Amino acid sequence: MTINELRKNLPDEKACRAYLEQVIWKQGRVCPHCGCLESWAIKGRSARPGLYECSGCRRQFTVTTKTPMHSTKLPLWTWILAMYYMVNSSKGVSSVYMARWLGITQKAAWKLCHAIREMMDTNHDKSPAVGGVVVEIDEKFLGGKPRKKKGVVHKRGKGTKKQGILVMVERQGIVRAELIENDSIEAIKPHVERHVDKHSYLMTDQNPNYRSIAKDFAGHSYVNHGNEEFARGEVHNNTAESLNSQLERAKFGVFHWLSKRHMWRYINEVAFRWNHRHPVQDGKGKTVMKFLPVIEQLASLLNCAIWRLVRRGLSGGLRICSNYV
Ligand SMILES: [Zn+2]
Repeated sequence: MTINELRKNLPDEKACRAYLEQVIWKQGRVCPHCGCLESWAIKGRSARPGLYECSGCRRQFTVTTKTPMHSTKLPLWTWILAMYYMVNSSKGVSSVYMARWLGITQKAAWKLCHAIREMMDTNHDKSPAVGGVVVEIDEKFLGGKPRKKKGVVHKRGKGTKKQGILVMVERQGIVRAELIENDSIEAIKPHVERHVDKHSYLMTDQNPNYRSIAKDFAGHSYVNHGNEEFARGEVHNNTAESLNSQLERAKFGVFHWLSKRHMWRYINEVAFRWNHRHPVQDGKGKTVMKFLPVIEQLASLLNCAIWRLVRRGLSGGLRICSNYV
């Protein structure tokens, strides 16, 4: 879908609001204050557009109440357009470009992008979701390089102040990523148990902690990166490495600098993009991963809108009040 087609479908604010109501309240209108499913529209000249009153708690709400769009001053079309740009880009959009494209300030664009990333959280599904035949697991340490100092060789990866990320990914399937303190068994095990199906075959690097974790799973193989071994036939964790390199490229190419405080949401974005592809056969009989249609991605994004509040903090920055966290 092109921007022109999107605009044709959503020509004004009324259409944008109707679209949001249709997608966010897919299973019926729900009161964001108490979760009640019964409410009525408030009509009249003084009522804001799209205002409802809950029959349970008698409080009023609209489709943007208690979502990242809560009491926004931007037109809904600007939000939808920003979402369109974000899900349609292959590596992400920086707030500077977003500001230029939408005609808003960089500060407003920065908040807007983070609000959209908040909805990109695919981890809220608590049951094990990564499963199937083979699941690759890998750790990644992401952060800035220390300044060059003569005669000093800086450490790489773990052992630095960089943020640890645990990546669990199905081959030709979905990914879950979590922030970790370090690569100890205590840090890794709960995430693997939460996200990975017990019937999966694990492939990892030589970190001995995985051998202990894998005892509860269908099987385990590992490659020894220390011995320069990266693949042994089907045994490799190149899929996880490929996702890691996307994180690295997003950092270098688009965002330049990721703060530890907000890194979680940048990872959401990379994982969201990864999870919204599906395998298709190309002309030569090879399986390649293609992005899902934009409209499907928008629906999936807005599915996570309710009860995720992103407000401006009193001293600047963001205040996240998500019920999901
Ligand atoms: Zn209510």
